[in-house]
Amino acid sequence: MKRTIKSIIPAKKKPLGDNMSVDSPLPSPFVRQISPFLMLDHFGPNQITPGNGFYVPPHPHRGFEPVTILFEGEIEHHDSAGNRAAIAGGGVQWMTAGSGFIHSEGAVESFAKAGGTIHGIQLWVNLPREKKMTPPGYQNIQRESIPVLESSGVKLRIISGEVDGTEGPAKTFTPVLAIHGIVSAGGSKTIRVPSSFNAFVYVTRGTLLLASGERADAKHLVWLSNDGDEFDVSAETEAEFLLLAGEPIDEPMVSYGPFVMNDPAEIMQAVEDYQSGAMGYLEE
Ligand code: MN
Repeated sequence: MKRTIKSIIPAKKKPLGDNMSVDSPLPSPFVRQISPFLMLDHFGPNQITPGNGFYVPPHPHRGFEPVTILFEGEIEHHDSAGNRAAIAGGGVQWMTAGSGFIHSEGAVESFAKAGGTIHGIQLWVNLPREKKMTPPGYQNIQRESIPVLESSGVKLRIISGEVDGTEGPAKTFTPVLAIHGIVSAGGSKTIRVPSSFNAFVYVTRGTLLLASGERADAKHLVWLSNDGDEFDVSAETEAEFLLLAGEPIDEPMVSYGPFVMNDPAEIMQAVEDYQSGAMGYLEE
């Protein structure tokens, strides 16, 4: 059975830091979350002029997994758990905030000096109640370690989960399928997505042709119904997308800024723990 489309949600521009903005389709006035996915921010493609990097100063997280999927550019991550690492285009950093860390992200120094294109996604994946206070973790996944399935003009880069027997490298706490797809002109592919998984396709470049005959342009989220176990993508001209799907976490969700917990008392505790230094410190 093919999945039908529930709705197509356009991204909205929102400010980030001093002079940056991102396009965000999730959360939106139409949908608060597509569990386990809480937030998707699309940054770029933006041209960084030489000598003008970008920097997101130290801030905390608790109760979920912030994930950076980078298409172009070079980003460095530094956190209070002692992780310092960089990814380049095609790489992914899958962070587990768990009980809490403080981190900063910015352009790698040499990239900032030279300038270039920055383009990527920041995705927040929820954690179930029993894993919200798990110790923080960091998975640095370089481009080369992401397997690529290629057929009929469609490349699928499997970041997490399994497609046709190929498994992605990112370890997750609940079942999550994360795929970066690149469709050549005229390419077409059926992707299997278990019907129990909530799922959406987010177009990062070009225009996708959907089986229903509808089209989805870049910076649009295609929310799929849970009424089938496969989905077709194709394109008339080159296009790229993310397919994100996962077993829903059926629990109350309360979020406040960078903290996502199950009830308001746990949010108060997170604020207190951050202010008292229990999430550690990050010097810049
Ligand atoms: Mn962050």
